[in-house]
Amino acid sequence: MSMLNVGRPTRPEAAEPAQTSLTGGRGLLQDEPLLFEVGGWDKTGVDLPDGPDADDLAGLTRDGVDLPGLSEPEAVRHYVRLSQKNHAIDLALYPLGSCTMKHNPRLNEKMARLAGFADLHPLQPVSTTQGALQLMDRLAHWLKTLTGMPAVALSPKAGAHGELCGLLCIKAAHEAAGQGHRRTVLVPTSAHGTNPATAAFVGYSVTEIAQTDDGRVDLSDLAAKLGPDVAAIMVTNPNTCGLFERDVIEIARLTHDAGAYFYCDGANFNAIVGKVRPGDLGVDAMHINLHKTFSTPHGGGGPGAGPVVLSQALAPFAPAPWIVSGPDALGLQEQDAGFGRMCAFHGQMGMFVRAYAYMLSHGADGLRQVAEDAVLNANYVKARLSDVMSPAFPEGPCMHEALFDDAWLDGTGVTTLDFAKAMIDEGFHPMTMYFPLVVHGAMLIEPTETESKAELDRFCEALRALAGAAKAGEAERFKGAPFLAPLRRLDETLAARKPKLAWTPPAE
Ligand SMILES: *Cc1c(COP(=O)(O)O)cnc(C)c1O
Repeated sequence: MSMLNVGRPTRPEAAEPAQTSLTGGRGLLQDEPLLFEVGGWDKTGVDLPDGPDADDLAGLTRDGVDLPGLSEPEAVRHYVRLSQKNHAIDLALYPLGSCTMKHNPRLNEKMARLAGFADLHPLQPVSTTQGALQLMDRLAHWLKTLTGMPAVALSPKAGAHGELCGLLCIKAAHEAAGQGHRRTVLVPTSAHGTNPATAAFVGYSVTEIAQTDDGRVDLSDLAAKLGPDVAAIMVTNPNTCGLFERDVIEIARLTHDAGAYFYCDGANFNAIVGKVRPGDLGVDAMHINLHKTFSTPHGGGGPGAGPVVLSQALAPFAPAPWIVSGPDALGLQEQDAGFGRMCAFHGQMGMFVRAYAYMLSHGADGLRQVAEDAVLNANYVKARLSDVMSPAFPEGPCMHEALFDDAWLDGTGVTTLDFAKAMIDEGFHPMTMYFPLVVHGAMLIEPTETESKAELDRFCEALRALAGAAKAGEAERFKGAPFLAPLRRLDETLAARKPKLAWTPPAE
């Protein structure tokens, strides 16, 4: 991919001149320069008062702040145009597997904007924040009820942050029991990348557990690797192959017998909420992604929240703060229990409000139906595509996501990446690709429960048409895709490894 000197990729090189515009515009989308490249420095949209006399700055001189000179409409249009280039769940289906991109009900947004929640300051006296504390207490109650666990730490700010919280609790519990020598965490090969990363961050060494042919934890390999050095296992359930770990109770028993704790990655709780309580399965700690299961905006749309539910054994090691009820008011216990705190204040209040509003508007029956519909939709997609694509685990139903491998592309010259890019030309955001790593050329589709049958049909028809084109030898359609997006194939590895985060003005 050729790059402009400012580090942005060049515009699409269309095959035919008639397909390029004269200006770089595309439809009604303009080629968007960086904010710093527009306007120039000589005009400004605001009047700033003169600063204090330079003499007051103890010898330091005041330079220009190098803000781009833009009027208000120029700034507004720039950001609105940028927003049009970003895919969003409010635009269309967003089938990223494991990410649970579901509709965010507007009622939740309305509740989060209530001044009594939105305008609170975390340092306000608790006598003035009783309503917010009560909401956090009710949210904690329902998270404990839904999971069958006795305690919850609300403060972690994302799924990965919740994993960190859970492992720090586990480490503190082992140390308190004189078991600080346990230095290993077992993680299945299909695990989300955050699991081994979190374990390594806490200082544990990571050992992989093998997977069976039907995509589950290999119990004999687990039993062989459990020993006096193992602090915990981290297992996602339903796992990242979209399958329920059938032997989860046995996994818990083996783990506990070896003196280790069972950390469950609960990011996929949306598949079982209201149906199964992880506490009944022997789980000791599990994060819940409020931004997935309980539908708070994420993926560029807002911050996450990853509360961690804890078993009786780990509850004493929960990080502060937590809510306590005094004789006539709620209060916050701010004392450190063991390893410290996860963040400065109490976590993501706005996400708590949205998640609680989501719970109340669904009710117990509605939440159960969320799980049922999420699983139904994924199985519908699996069933509609299985004759043209190859499901990674054809036997039996899946949970909330349908996983395909790339065996069906053999001999077509088309790869998973090409196929995903061609989906963009058809107006669909690609699914998760090449994850989980245990499945070759993986394509992981999570439709979520908020898509209608009509939308699922439109999606499946597009994928069926593309599959037909791939098998009919139309490799060209895929190799250069996307042809119709504002930008063509980007060097995603370079972008991730060497992101250009600063703009340097061109030499005068
Ligand atoms: C999303 C996800 C995570 C990480 O959650 P973040 O909020 O992105 O940190 C961890 N595990 C699984 C299985 C996930 O799907």
